[in-house]
Order: sequence, then C-alpha cells, then structure tokens
Amino acid sequence: MDRSKESNMRIRRGLSSRLLPCGCLAGIYETYRDEIVAIVDARHSGCADPSHNTGNVIPAVFPAEPPSANHDTHRG
Ligand SMILES: [Zn+2]
Repeated sequence: MDRSKESNMRIRRGLSSRLLPCGCLAGIYETYRDEIVAIVDARHSGCADPSHNTGNVIPAVFPAEPPSANHDTHRG
C-alpha cells in the first residue's frame, strides 16, 4: 500500500509469527539476503518498549528454525 517509503530490506516470505514476552505479536520473515528478521505485527497495549511499534523491524533474538535441507545453489 505505502510505496513511498522503501527500506533497503526486502521481504521474500513470511515464516511464522511469535508472541513476544511483552505481549506484542511479531511476524518472522525471511529477506532476500537470507536474513531472518522479526517485524511487529501487533503492539500490546501493555508493552512499554517504544521500539515495538507496528511495522517496526526488531532483532530476531530467538533462534529461527532452519528450513529442512534447502541448499539450492544460487546462481547469478
Ligand atoms: Zn512489546
């Protein structure tokens, strides 16, 4: 929807979602750089972390489960 702001991070696909200890809901995404990031999907009303605004990228502090034997060779 909002294409005016384009970050340097491009999301390839969504992997899953996690409920953070503070109550916020974060989506786990894979980027085109093969990085796993978490983006706040829904901010909890009781969360005191100002960085947990909806749409914010937050550090994926939890270990992401690696995909099952997906070692395709990248060309190009
Ligand atoms: Zn939070």
